[in-house]
Amino acid sequence: MKPLFHGLVETLVRLTSGLAIALSAASLVAPAQAMTIDKKLVVTVRTVCNDDGIDCSFQGPAGNLFYETVGDKIWAQAGIDLEFVLGLNVNSTELLTGPVAGLSAFTGATAGTGTTMYLTSSLHCVGCVLFGEAWLGAGGLVINMDAVASFNSGIGRLDTIAHELGHNLGLYTGVGAVGGHDNGNTHFLIASGGVRLIPSALGDICPHPSAASCLDYLKPEHISVARASSLLVAIPEPATLLMAVFGLVVVGTAAQRRLNTTSQTPWPSLMPRFSNLVSGR
Ligand SMILES: [Zn+2]
Repeated sequence: MKPLFHGLVETLVRLTSGLAIALSAASLVAPAQAMTIDKKLVVTVRTVCNDDGIDCSFQGPAGNLFYETVGDKIWAQAGIDLEFVLGLNVNSTELLTGPVAGLSAFTGATAGTGTTMYLTSSLHCVGCVLFGEAWLGAGGLVINMDAVASFNSGIGRLDTIAHELGHNLGLYTGVGAVGGHDNGNTHFLIASGGVRLIPSALGDICPHPSAASCLDYLKPEHISVARASSLLVAIPEPATLLMAVFGLVVVGTAAQRRLNTTSQTPWPSLMPRFSNLVSGR
């Protein structure tokens, strides 16, 4: 039977492979910039705790839970806002300590809009560190928050959640995809964990005054794939909201006018104004 999805993709760094693989510095094809934010990805967060409901996994640094500030900056390149919503905790010592089945032990690939993110304290990986796993082109991901938070002397592996969410959004299923990744440039958000350069601060991330020096870049093909994801929901544009408000005013005025014209004793002070309105003067 043909699998519904491409299956697991992973961000891992083999301890024996050393630092990031140096790739040729292919130039980025377009300057990275923020787009109008017109789509939203709702991420339901489920924190994993032990069987007794305590010793729960880390949720991210104070003031930047789930590295949302970083994730929002990265995904602004594609006009996508990340909205994290706290769901119920999961009390399971087995899940908290790195089940052999990995992501499948937490969740299958989910349909519908949005995705569900499990935060745990360990992921199973022999001789390696696994930072996160996600379904490709469907909802469901798990993040090893202890490994993410301790990375880079405690600065944190800032882009792991944004990277895994990218897999949920279908990155990368395009030309040149290898195991769900596009390793064409060390600056790509969707380059694999052993290849990708990891930002140390918000200023390292695209958009940046210098497109050539920013990290977690989304090239146009990546943006097209992600924006086509059925996990996203539309955010009404301000102009659309204004039209909606205007429509309500018109309807309200018409209702008021009907009220007055059917009244046996219409309010005299209002009648001239309606006369003016309908006559166009
Ligand atoms: Zn990956």
